[in-house]
Order: sequence, then C-alpha cells, then structure tokens
Amino acid sequence: MKSNPCVLILVDGLRPDAIEPAPMPTVLSLAKECLYAGTAQSLMPNCTLPCHFSIFHSVVPERHGINTNNWTPQVRPILGIFDVLSQSGKKAGFAYNWEELRDLGRPGSLWQSFFVSMYRADDSSNTDMMVADNTANFLREGADFIFCYLGVTDEVGHKHGWMSPEYLEAAAGADAGIARVLEALPEGGSAIIMADHGGLGRSHGFDSPETMTIPLYVYAPGREAAEISDPDLLDIAPTIAALCGITAPETWEGRSLVK
Ligand SMILES: [Zn+2]
Repeated sequence: MKSNPCVLILVDGLRPDAIEPAPMPTVLSLAKECLYAGTAQSLMPNCTLPCHFSIFHSVVPERHGINTNNWTPQVRPILGIFDVLSQSGKKAGFAYNWEELRDLGRPGSLWQSFFVSMYRADDSSNTDMMVADNTANFLREGADFIFCYLGVTDEVGHKHGWMSPEYLEAAAGADAGIARVLEALPEGGSAIIMADHGGLGRSHGFDSPETMTIPLYVYAPGREAAEISDPDLLDIAPTIAALCGITAPETWEGRSLVK
C-alpha cells in the first residue's frame, strides 16, 4: 500500500531562537499546525556526523561508533532508516550539500540522490536552494521519503558567528528552501523540520544550552501526538518509520513522536 510521503528537512546548526529574528516565516507558520513544535535536545558530541548517524540509526554515538565528522565502517552494523525503507519497498531519496553525509545510506538503499558541494567557489549560499529544488522534484516524482539537508546556516555560523546578521540571513535562506519543499509536498504528506545541534560563538561540539537545544517540528496531518516528553535525536527514525507505515527495528532506542 502506498503511504503518504514524508520529508525530513534538517537545517544544520539552526538554533530555535534564530527562527523569529531571521525571520523564518514558513517555519513560524507551519509551527501552528505541528504536533511537536519548539525545542528538543541534541546529543554529545554535538558535531554534524555523529548527530546524523544518531538521527538515522536511533542509537547514541557510543553504539554507532561515529564520534567525529570522519565516517568509519560500523563494527556492529545497525540498520538505518534508509535501509529499513528500502527493505520495505519504499522509495527513499537524499538531497544534500555536505559530502561527509554520503555514507548515511548503504549502497542499494536509495532510490534517488542529489549532491552539490556548498564549498563551490561561485555561489555556495545558493546550494541550499538547489538541494530544496531537487527535494521538491523527488516528491513530485513519487518519493515515499526524502531527507533534505540544508548545510549553509552552519557553515556561515562557523565563519561569522551564531546569531550574527550573516547567520540569520542564511537561516532565512533555508526557510525559503523549506517553503519550496513544502509546496511540493502532496496532500496528506508529513514533514519533520529540525536541526542537528545549535552553536555558540563560532563553534559547537561542547555542552551548553546554545549548542544542545534544537528546534523540532513534526507536521503530520491526521496523526495524533504520542505522549513523549523531551524528544531527542533518537526519536526521529522511529517517527519517520511510523509516518511511512513501516516497523522500526528492535535495535533502535528512540520512540515515535506520532501514534
Ligand atoms: Zn551540524
């Protein structure tokens, strides 16, 4: 049976307190219709690749073994959301602009993917919109699940500082990309919008409220919220599985945020 499509949009390094001043009108407007809106917690080390492996495999870094931004093969492999989706015959896609993420899905688990480097010399800021446009196309072509990764906000945070005018401008650009994706989301489709970690000064990777607190929005028409307090990164893969109508593996440690 074809389930309604689901998209996970992750704005790297987005702090929840950046959403109003940026501003991010699409996120602010969608938040009014979301089951879960507001803040959630990242995990340590709050670096991009460890966080993403926890989001996609629903276990802590001590279990998946990715503790830095350098990927290494898992010693005790765990199925990720891309693996579970492909095993269930779902069409899963991935659009991104930071290449270190390329091993989030094992060979054979993706239906479509799009990559452009945000370190292109010509116009790196435009790569978030290129990722969003490709995500929108995948949705129009009948994808069941797409992971849309927007990396420019984090990159600008490292360069100019979190909450700097340049950082807020990048977040506003990500919001325009989110709008592009949501326009292509079919009736009944669901969307998760979140970050992997925040940032303070020009960095993250250390334990502080500014680096650990992340925005998390779950837009799921027709679904009830599960009674879960303090959602975290481990809850995302089980939530995607629930939204796509598939069973979560027993190895996953998080819980679905929807019933
Ligand atoms: Zn990150």
